[in-house]
Amino acid sequence: MTSRGVAILGSTGSIGTTALRVLDRHRERFHVTALTAFTNATLLAEQERIFSPSFVGLVSETEHSEWRCGEACLVEAATKPDVDIVLNAVVGAAGLKATLAALEAGKRVALANKESLVMGGHLVADAARSGHGELIPVDSEHSAILQCIAGRPRSEIRRLVLTASGGPFRSWTREQLGTATLADALRHPTWQMGRKITVDSATLANKALEVIEAHFLFDVPYDRIDVVVHPQSVVHSFVEFVDGSVLAQLGVPSMELPILYALTYPDRIADSGVPQFDPVALSPLEFEPVRRADFPMLDLGVAAGRAGGAAPAVFNAANEQAVALFLGGSIRFRDIARLVESALSAQSAAPGGSLDAILAADANARRHIQELSGC
Ligand code: NAD
Ligand code: MG
Repeated sequence: MTSRGVAILGSTGSIGTTALRVLDRHRERFHVTALTAFTNATLLAEQERIFSPSFVGLVSETEHSEWRCGEACLVEAATKPDVDIVLNAVVGAAGLKATLAALEAGKRVALANKESLVMGGHLVADAARSGHGELIPVDSEHSAILQCIAGRPRSEIRRLVLTASGGPFRSWTREQLGTATLADALRHPTWQMGRKITVDSATLANKALEVIEAHFLFDVPYDRIDVVVHPQSVVHSFVEFVDGSVLAQLGVPSMELPILYALTYPDRIADSGVPQFDPVALSPLEFEPVRRADFPMLDLGVAAGRAGGAAPAVFNAANEQAVALFLGGSIRFRDIARLVESALSAQSAAPGGSLDAILAADANARRHIQELSGC
């Protein structure tokens, strides 16, 4: 068996560290060839010592005797000749250029960084086509859908149904949501994740990003992608086929399996780190409609996806900026949706044909949020 080289962009984060745990168990199949982080030099040095990659990049620094520094290290890591698979586990828009570069260089991209696909879905598809790269989702819902589709043609798919945990505020009243604090928003009931995606799960912006992600990954129109709340996070999503049959993929909430599957796809291998499935212990499994009026970020994001052009990039950037303000204590929970809605109504018609246009829309949306919030 030839060992495949893996680059992990964002190796110090929640997905990055989980991926290293997975790779550590499969050292005969994979070797780590590149690691990058934003600021955490201490953890990065520790990971370098354990995995001996040929390339280490630290974005936030300008000089280091042995490592590559600055933003360009992401694209460099993603395109190295000894890299077969790029696990993009960077959070936010910062991951886009590396996704494009890796696909253009013919790599497999195991994509956790859904923001790349939301911002530049068409650009990502073009890059994969022209460079013969391959895009495999790491997001648990999309991994579930990929596993259910299992090679069947698009014409047989009637509908995708993404599951959503509902986040920490699933059963909060509209009035209670007005008093939600940062600590409340960071208390996710079923998943341990980075702070940005945890807040996105509380607003349901994460599910909007995932609907757009599913649209681009599986080429399914928006009116055939639904969302259902499933508080236990055991059913990771459903695929309904034209004959009415519905397949789902199930398991205890753990990112280890979707990460491993993105590395080995279409093969399955033993030792995924997932405990044995026990349907009785996991009972009951519940499903509820989404409270769309109380969590407006879902419809705002899906509308941006439907509008196309740069609208999804505006939604993504405005959300990133608003969440950063919320994490910094400058705005309240419900301000996130208010600010994002304003950015979208100001800029939803922005063109999105090129990378420059997408990046300009991203920058304008961030500026809009800064000005409106006075922060
Ligand atoms: P995190 O905040 O824990 O980690 C982010 C990583 O990206 C860190 O290694 C950090 O150093 C790096 N990073 C941050 N800003 C950067 C920048 N400007 N330039 C370069 N590197 C930067 O986040 P996470 O929870 O691991 O999420 C990573 C991505 O995976 C996100 O897109 C998220 O939506 C997606 N995702 C996460 C989970 C999960 O369980 N955590 C599940 C599904 C999808
Ligand atoms: Mg997900």
